[in-house]
Amino acid sequence: MDKNTGFMKALKCRECGREYPLEATHVCEFDFGPLEVVYDYDRIKHSLTRAVIKSRPQSMWRYRELLPVAGEPTVGCQVGYTPLVKADRLAKRLGIRELWVKNDTVNYPTLSFKDRVVSVALSRARELGFSTVACASTGNLANSVAANAAAAGLKAYVFIPSDLEQGKVVNSLVYGAHVIGIRGHYDEVNRLCAEIAGKYGWAFVNVNMRPYYAEGSKSMGFEILEQLGWTVPQHTVVCMASGSLLTKIHKSYQEFMKLGIVAESRYKVHGAQATGCSPISTAQKAGLDFFKPVKPNTIAKSLAIGTPADGFYALKVMKETGGAAEDVTDDEVREGIKLLAETEGIFAETAGGVTVGVAKKLIASGHIPQDASAVLCITGNGLKTLDAIAGHVGQTREIKPSLREFEALLDKENKLINA
Ligand SMILES: *Cc1c(COP(=O)(O)O)cnc(C)c1O
Ligand SMILES: [Zn+2]
Repeated sequence: MDKNTGFMKALKCRECGREYPLEATHVCEFDFGPLEVVYDYDRIKHSLTRAVIKSRPQSMWRYRELLPVAGEPTVGCQVGYTPLVKADRLAKRLGIRELWVKNDTVNYPTLSFKDRVVSVALSRARELGFSTVACASTGNLANSVAANAAAAGLKAYVFIPSDLEQGKVVNSLVYGAHVIGIRGHYDEVNRLCAEIAGKYGWAFVNVNMRPYYAEGSKSMGFEILEQLGWTVPQHTVVCMASGSLLTKIHKSYQEFMKLGIVAESRYKVHGAQATGCSPISTAQKAGLDFFKPVKPNTIAKSLAIGTPADGFYALKVMKETGGAAEDVTDDEVREGIKLLAETEGIFAETAGGVTVGVAKKLIASGHIPQDASAVLCITGNGLKTLDAIAGHVGQTREIKPSLREFEALLDKENKLINA
């Protein structure tokens, strides 16, 4: 194995197929197409088997041959292998035979699926000799870059829209990262970061490091396949911001089939957005191959990308697999959060409410048949978006520390229930 490339062969343009060296670069010089990591699958086939995977520690790095680092990972070695929960009570409420929740609300260390992509991006950034890392973020990415950079002794600059939830802001500041709030939408933050990345020699995880970074999302899919006993779920519902996660879930299923780790099978990948920022689901529902950019207005701020970088490819994956897309209002997002919490004891952030709400709609409309089995990708933790749900979950009832008062309260409640 080449110590500088590992199981990677090159970066390759998704549009024209031109190949590039494995450096910190992300667009094709000829047509501005996005670059993607190409692997040596013949070698991987000899190295990565079910037995080998099973013998390794329970983290996302048990699939390391399919993740774009040359040597052993040095950042986020304990990320991933989050629970896949059989959600019988939620299944009953949504009217489907079998339902699973892939629970990245408890990912390590910052409670979202972004720990996966950051672990890969920062490990690769170190291999390429960077000492400062950065990102353009809707919140969770900033949290994860800040935390993982701190633990790795890297300097971090994170750029966020200035109106993010308090929970997301504090969760970046506490690690000592340089947090820059931009007065504007994520798309403006992203545009600025592209300029900064060109000027400073920093590893921007989702700009110049994007080909490596994005691959980290595949680990969520690999885990789903392993945790389902090496089978491919009939339906997977994924929420979309840039659309990258959805495309990488699909890629992970394809790679495990290609390597013979799971049997060839048919599956559908469905996309979920908030109605207030739904460029991809709107295009999908209209049967279009291209989306129209929008100006976001939704409580699902982690998904509020009006010009999604991978929107085109996400539409392609849904078309190829026969998947559908839907979107839900802010009220439906809150209902989704509450439904998941009340049935399964999992407190997801707004993005999770989007996924649950959309799954409900897709089951009701028959896009996901009632006798099928489905996996919901729940990507972030509700403790970070308390602003979105506070005031919508009822109130505590206060009493004096007296048994009499408590009994009076119970009595009143029972009367209400029986009335
Ligand atoms: C970033 C993010 C996503 C989706 O990201 P993509 O850009 O579509 O890959 C989903 N859920 C949460 C909670 C996120 O932070
Ligand atoms: Zn090209």
